[in-house]
Amino acid sequence: MQTTPRNFFDAIARVAAARPDATFLLLPGRASASFRDTMAAACRFAHVLADAGVRPGDRVMVQAGKNAEAIFLYLACLRAGAVYVPLNTAYTPAEVSYFIGDAEPKLFVTTPAGRERVAAIAPGLTVLTLSDDGQGGTLPEQAAGQSTVFPDADVGMNDLASILYTSGTTGRSKGAMLSHGNLWSNAETLRDIWHFTDKDVLLHALPIFHIHGLFVATNVSLLAGAKMVLLPKFEPDAIFEWLPQATVLMGVPTFYTRLLQDPRLSRETTGHMRLFISGSAPLLAETHRQWQARTGHAILERYGMTETNMIASNPYEGDRVPGSVGYALPGVSVRIADDAGSPLPPGAVGMIEVRGPNVFQGYWRMPDKTKEEFRKDGFFITGDLGTQEPDGRIRIVGRGKDLIITGGFNVYPKEIESLIDEIAGVSESAVIGLPHDDFGEGVTAVCVCEKGAALTEQQVLAALRDRLAKFKQPKRVLFVDDLPRNTMGKVQKNLLRDIYRDLYGKG
Ligand code: AMP
Repeated sequence: MQTTPRNFFDAIARVAAARPDATFLLLPGRASASFRDTMAAACRFAHVLADAGVRPGDRVMVQAGKNAEAIFLYLACLRAGAVYVPLNTAYTPAEVSYFIGDAEPKLFVTTPAGRERVAAIAPGLTVLTLSDDGQGGTLPEQAAGQSTVFPDADVGMNDLASILYTSGTTGRSKGAMLSHGNLWSNAETLRDIWHFTDKDVLLHALPIFHIHGLFVATNVSLLAGAKMVLLPKFEPDAIFEWLPQATVLMGVPTFYTRLLQDPRLSRETTGHMRLFISGSAPLLAETHRQWQARTGHAILERYGMTETNMIASNPYEGDRVPGSVGYALPGVSVRIADDAGSPLPPGAVGMIEVRGPNVFQGYWRMPDKTKEEFRKDGFFITGDLGTQEPDGRIRIVGRGKDLIITGGFNVYPKEIESLIDEIAGVSESAVIGLPHDDFGEGVTAVCVCEKGAALTEQQVLAALRDRLAKFKQPKRVLFVDDLPRNTMGKVQKNLLRDIYRDLYGKG
């Protein structure tokens, strides 16, 4: 009988040992890497970490490109018991300086071009480099010739595997501490409910500094013994080049809206695919419908966050309902609660709270912040507002901080956005609250029109008039070419609120 793995690396090593010659990574322009190659590289990289003085529990901070070696480095950290701390490649030196001060890494891995920047920020910090294609730099140089045997680190499922900094649109970015057990339980669950096997080939076009590309995509593929096509970034030409070899695509909603604009997307080009998954930001119901009409595939939408890994998913078999994120994952408890944490009846809008083996260990060096965001009974307060139907199906209505309070009434932006998005000629919309003398906040719609469509403010207001209570109707409708989005495709409502702050006077 199989014993329980000691830590997450052990779980991965067992899968790899069962299929050493099978391909794990398919790499554009390079030879692929088998599971044996991958595990051997992880050992060599783990020796480099040890030579740099990294011991179990030490942080290894990484701000580098997306390549096979970055995956080997992640695995080396798991193997050596180090804590992997990837950073968004867009972070500026000032932001990196904060992360270094906060996490106090033992080692920093960056691109050759980034070396001087890090040295200027933290003169005493050991820095290794990794070129964008992964094949150059001091890290792979030092790894060459190292042993492919590495002593097991004494780490268990409760030890930290990673710290991921939250995107921090309000206040300081916080380091979410994820244990080996958090990653293991979530990846096993997702592999099973999404029916991942070693026959699968995942088209991987997401960044690997975020939970979606790093943990959901990579960990699930590893535990399934599947293959992964590691594309440096999302780019439709590369997607269509590799699509014939793939079985699954994981994406943020913008992948799907962009692919829908491509004439190559058809039933023929996607007929062999097993699954399209979307997450990290809300998938428009319209995108879901268009995708199904064009390809015959119903996109499977799931919901999660850095602090909790994945929380809910639409079913693999059964209805994948547009606008819903499905059901709590097996072993994960979700409740909709009021401000005091008491469960609300089905259908009521409230805070989504979650408890389970997927939920993180707290914010790094922020015990007070951690305490604030957990209920006494262990439920984590996600900050997302949602509803749950009697059968458990979850819908997200928006971030709590995006809730609009106008004239004392609560307005949930998602409800208005969904109606606006249905208006012919509207491609998408964001509804925000702006300071308003009379109402506290004025409901404001920011719309993007479809190419060639020319809508007016009056037309949008007229289309909403009979469909929404007066207090929910936008006071103004503005038009923009694009909504501001972050790298994960999330609409940055905080930026919109800043831009239009004085729309109704000085509030
Ligand atoms: P992050 O920690 O960057 O992954 O962001 C997590 C947040 O993204 C969640 O708290 C939600 O607000 C949002 N999110 C993730 N998946 C979805 C989804 N399927 N629909 C709507 N919002 C989502």
